[in-house]
Amino acid sequence: MADCPQPLCCRYGKPASGHVGAGFWGDYRHCDLPLWTAENLMKYIADNEEERIFDIVYYTGDLPPHNVWNQSRSDQLYATDTITNLLRKYFSNKIFYPALGNHEAAPCNLYPTPAIKSDNISWLYTSLADHWIQLGLPEDTRDSILRGAFYTTIVRPGLRLISLNMNYCASDNFWLYINSTDPLGQLQWLITWLQYAEDNDEKVHIIGHHPPRSCLGSFSWNFYRIINRYENTIAGQFYGHTHTDEIIVFYDQIEKRRPVSMAYLAPSLTPFSFKNPGYRVYLVDGEYENSTYWVLDHHTVIMNLTASNLLNRTTFVNEYSARDAYKMAYLFPTDWDNLIDRLMADIDGDMMGLVYKYYTKSYANGTACDHNCRMGLLCDFRTARSEDTSCLDFIPPQLLTVT
Ligand SMILES: [Zn+2]
Repeated sequence: MADCPQPLCCRYGKPASGHVGAGFWGDYRHCDLPLWTAENLMKYIADNEEERIFDIVYYTGDLPPHNVWNQSRSDQLYATDTITNLLRKYFSNKIFYPALGNHEAAPCNLYPTPAIKSDNISWLYTSLADHWIQLGLPEDTRDSILRGAFYTTIVRPGLRLISLNMNYCASDNFWLYINSTDPLGQLQWLITWLQYAEDNDEKVHIIGHHPPRSCLGSFSWNFYRIINRYENTIAGQFYGHTHTDEIIVFYDQIEKRRPVSMAYLAPSLTPFSFKNPGYRVYLVDGEYENSTYWVLDHHTVIMNLTASNLLNRTTFVNEYSARDAYKMAYLFPTDWDNLIDRLMADIDGDMMGLVYKYYTKSYANGTACDHNCRMGLLCDFRTARSEDTSCLDFIPPQLLTVT
């Protein structure tokens, strides 16, 4: 049943009379992806993406489903184990670089800090360290994974990956209300490694689950300052959590209109809620010591859930490539900033409609997002900090008066 009274449906049972049951391959209503669809999707990627020669995989967490009221520690470990085995089965020659989601804990969201004596999260981190190292991380990441499920490693000559555990900044981790500044010293650790990278001419990719605007204020504003300071070292940031296809442009704190860094929020595999499943392939400049490792283009593929259920076979669609769809010469922060300006100048036009369509992974079309919805979306694209309204400074006054 796909329209049950719980927050997540499609778990068991038959639809009540008068209700339409869930589709075999998944459902737009309040349902996660069936395991057989996830497996089918991995097989599709393994069979079809070789031509794009992807080498490494960033995945940004949330492996367990959304039945958050009914999960035990063993359920979460079972979900992690199941997905790790599937990844290993279909991509035995790839290296995976994970970040930890909010759903891996039990209860979900609640990651106690080391200062909490009545609870701890070592049951998860011990298992994660084994799984992540099985998926290709080097053994020397184990200590920091056991400490806080964050780590750093070199992924290509001159490219360092830093994977952050954003549960130690997320506003839905209630343990942080005791100390939200930097409870595990993760920001201090981040600065140490960024300084190391700068000193050694390395570029850095940052991955994490929650986008930094989902962090509590002190962390997210400090994080923003760090990104500003190391703008020449950080070549890209990659997050998830929202399930939608979004970007975030970071700006200079002094020269407020100068874009300094790019974060990509890639689409999720889950259709929860009212989205198609999707994944993304990034084309990154690099292979050599002095490569820039900036994203040159990205390509998003969706599984059309309506067609898949109608035809009774999974149906994949090349949804779009960024440069082509948005008519961009490059994908540097300045180019994305220019795109947002172009979209703002024609906010009720077709291109902005396309942005919204892709935001929902082609579930909805642009007409479903009215003027104010479009303004909100563009504002979000310029908001990397929580409780930050500075995106309003970019909006021409005549647009603000329209309701
Ligand atoms: Zn999440």
